[in-house]
Amino acid sequence: MLNHLREPMKRKKYTGSALSLSKGVKQPPSVNPNLKKIKRKELSVDEYINGIRKNDRSILSRAITLVESNLPEHTLVSRKIVEACLPYTGKSIRIGITGIPGVGKSTFIETFGTYVTAKRHKLAVLAIDPSSERSKGSILGDKTRMEMLSARPDTFIRPSPSAGTLGGVARKTRESILLCEAAGYDIIFIETVGVGQSEVAVHSMVDFFLLLLLAGAGDELQGIKRGIIEMADLLVITKADGSNVMKANRAATEFNSALHMFPPADSGWNPIVLTCSAQNNQGMDAVWDKILEYAGLTKSNGFFEKNRNEQALHWMKEAISEALTLHFYKNEQISKKLKKLQTEVLRNKISPFIAATRILNFYFRNV
Ligand code: GDP
Repeated sequence: MLNHLREPMKRKKYTGSALSLSKGVKQPPSVNPNLKKIKRKELSVDEYINGIRKNDRSILSRAITLVESNLPEHTLVSRKIVEACLPYTGKSIRIGITGIPGVGKSTFIETFGTYVTAKRHKLAVLAIDPSSERSKGSILGDKTRMEMLSARPDTFIRPSPSAGTLGGVARKTRESILLCEAAGYDIIFIETVGVGQSEVAVHSMVDFFLLLLLAGAGDELQGIKRGIIEMADLLVITKADGSNVMKANRAATEFNSALHMFPPADSGWNPIVLTCSAQNNQGMDAVWDKILEYAGLTKSNGFFEKNRNEQALHWMKEAISEALTLHFYKNEQISKKLKKLQTEVLRNKISPFIAATRILNFYFRNV
């Protein structure tokens, strides 16, 4: 009897969200990364492009799945799609959103995303989560997040690509940005967790970088890497509601004075600290105003364009490095030699640098 009562509750937990990644639960195409399992009519490159341009979200999802795939035949098609979409890209504001788990990212994105779409913008929310391979998606993947936003017709939400290195995952997200822009999304959020190197990757693909912070007790700067604060265009203290308001205001003052320690940014923009309560829908207008102000300033002083150009070149270099590394490590002769050299390095018979020089010399001469 009890089991019978419990059963429906269990099932209830796993329905009602477009973001569920649970095994065995039927998914809408926008979140199912496994193209092979779905038997659908193959689309031609033209059909993909037309679908994306008409903002057919199911076709956009399928195109992103191709971008995310590591299969050579998918890469071939996805390259053509991305290339054909290029003339229609670049017209959005790309906003990176980061913060440690629990800071309130998904609640913020839900409330702020709803605010932005109410201003008649079309919003795409993408993610980079380098841990998703292990955790099967700690951001944008769990079942209860962003339900309201994901149900909106003017919003497209896509969890992080889960396979591969951070560089690979980031490249895929960058190409997904382009596809979303070609589909007419003019505001793009890229969410990332505030741990590891993913912020650096996100920073190198966005126009505006927003750091969410908790008002903590004691030393407010504890645990937050200086580099991340330095990258941020706007710091927002979350959960400024109820008994937390004073703490949030105090934290804002402290972070504000911490910002003064940094040298002025190339953008000509002075980062500031705001507080908000996504839960109570407070502070969203101030965040939006700052983003618009930033876009206005950097477009008029030329930084917006310059930054995007630098990012494009950065990604070209990244792609070259990634391809070269892959080519190097995939080579059988290299991996045999590498094993031998590794043993010698570990036995202290040869220095790591000499070992590296030797194997690279071999690579350049023979491969
Ligand atoms: P994430 O892990 O960064 O995505 O954080 P979540 O959005 O899942 O939020 C973590 C916890 O903080 C949840 O229990 C939320 O209900 C809570 N939370 C998020 N935003 C607010 C807020 O504005 N005020 C309050 N009081 N709690 C919040």
